[in-house]
Amino acid sequence: MANIGIKGIENPLVLTSDNIFNIKEIPKTLLIIGGGGVIGVELASAFKSFGSEVIIVELMDRIVPNMDREISEFLKESLEEKGGIKIITSTKIEEIKEENNKLTVSIDGQDNLIVDKALLSIGRAPDLRAIGEIDFEMVNGRIKVDEYMETSQNGIYAPGDINGIKMLAHAASKMGEIAAKNALGHREKINFNNIPHAIYTMPEVGTVGLTEEKAREKYDILVGKFPPFVGNGRALASGQTRGFVKVIADKKIWRNIRSSYNRYWCCRTSKRSCSSNGNGNNHI
Ligand SMILES: Cc1cc2nc3c(=O)[nH]c(=O)nc-3n(C[C@H](O)[C@H](O)[C@H](O)COP(=O)(O)OP(=O)(O)OC[C@H]3O[C@@H](n4cnc5c(N)ncnc54)[C@H](O)[C@@H]3O)c2cc1C
Repeated sequence: MANIGIKGIENPLVLTSDNIFNIKEIPKTLLIIGGGGVIGVELASAFKSFGSEVIIVELMDRIVPNMDREISEFLKESLEEKGGIKIITSTKIEEIKEENNKLTVSIDGQDNLIVDKALLSIGRAPDLRAIGEIDFEMVNGRIKVDEYMETSQNGIYAPGDINGIKMLAHAASKMGEIAAKNALGHREKINFNNIPHAIYTMPEVGTVGLTEEKAREKYDILVGKFPPFVGNGRALASGQTRGFVKVIADKKIWRNIRSSYNRYWCCRTSKRSCSSNGNGNNHI
C-alpha cells in the first residue's frame, strides 16, 4: 500500500484491502478510512451485512466522488438510511492510537472514534518486485504504457492495475487481451471511452460514459430519468424498489434518434411515408 501519511496507520489493527480477507472474526466496529471509494463502500456494505457496526470517513465532500453527483447522494442516503452505515464526509483522519486492543481515531473537528478495527481502503500500490533491473518509464509510481499496452521497453507489455489507467477487473481483462494480441504481432489499440463501472453495494450501481457534470461541460445535453423503481415489474418482483435509471444524451444526437423513431412509427401506423422534424424539449 502507498504511504498516505496518517500517524499510526501502520498499526496491525488497521487492515488493508489485501489482508482484511484473512481475518478470523468479524469486528464489532469497523472504521473504513477513505471509505468513499469503490472498495470502501463495497466492503462497508459487506461488513455491515456480516454484523459489524460500520463507519466511513471520507476526505472529499461526497462518497464515490468520481461518479455522477446524483449517484453519490442516492448511495449515501441508501447506505445510511437503509444500510445503517454511518458516513462522515469532508473529514480528515489525523491520528490513530491503540489502547486496550482498540483503536482511538482522532478526526478533525469531531469527537474521537473508538473502534475494534479499521480498514485502509485506499492507496493500493503496484507490486513491482518482479521488474528487477528493467528501467521502465513510470507515471505516478506505475508502469507507463501506450494505447497498445506496450511499455517504454519494446516488446514488454503491462496491462491491468500495474499501469494504473483503469483499476477495474473487466478493464484489466480487456487490456490483457489487447496486450496479448499485440505481443503476437497484431496492432490493436485500446479504447477506454466506454468502460462500464459497477459498484457492488446494496443497492448496486452501474454506469457507463460521462457523468452529468462532465457531459454538461462538453455538450448541450438532455437528461432523462426513470424514478423510482416502484414502477418497474422486475424491481417489484425482487423487492428492490429503491433506485433509478438516468440517461444523459447529446441534444443533437437525441433529436436525430427521436426524429427517426417518430418517422418509423408514423410510417408503421399510417402505412404511408411521412417525416418529423423531431424538435425536442428539455427532457428526453
Ligand atoms: C477489495 C477489492 C474490491 C474490488 N472490487 C472491484 C469491483 O467491484 N469491480 C471491479 O471491476 N474491480 C474491482 N477491484 C479491482 C480489481 O480487483 C482489479 O482491477 C483487478 O484485479 C486487476 O487485475 P490485474 O490482473 O491487473 O491484477 P491482479 O488481479 O492484482 O493480478 C496480478 C497477479 O499477479 C501476481 N503476481 C504479482 N507479482 C508476481 C510475480 N513476480 N510473478 C508472478 N505473479 C505475480 C499476483 O499474485 C496476482 O495474482 C477490486 C479490488 C479490490 C482489492
